[in-house]
Amino acid sequence: MAYRADKPNLYAWLAQDHPKGLAVLCCLEDHQKPHEKGLHCHALCGEDPEIPFGAQRYPGMIRVPRFGATHNRQAEFTDTSVLPLALNFFEVNPSGGDLL
Ligand SMILES: [Zn+2]
Repeated sequence: MAYRADKPNLYAWLAQDHPKGLAVLCCLEDHQKPHEKGLHCHALCGEDPEIPFGAQRYPGMIRVPRFGATHNRQAEFTDTSVLPLALNFFEVNPSGGDLL
């Protein structure tokens, strides 16, 4: 996870550890660019998608909501809120790191 509360910018990656490397499953983001403002995610969709190892961004990832769409969800990031926000979005149990 990387974020800057003063911008605010947020990048939180959900990845699976694998002997061949990390496989990024999804990225939750918020940027302060006017056309990208608001929480959104990038992920590869479809049945049995082939996710490359070691790549943060790769062909076939889609953005939800789509680029240019109106964002309804705005978030404020603080040192204490940003991690729970990402864990809740990814449905990760913070005590064990297991997917819910
Ligand atoms: Zn983005």
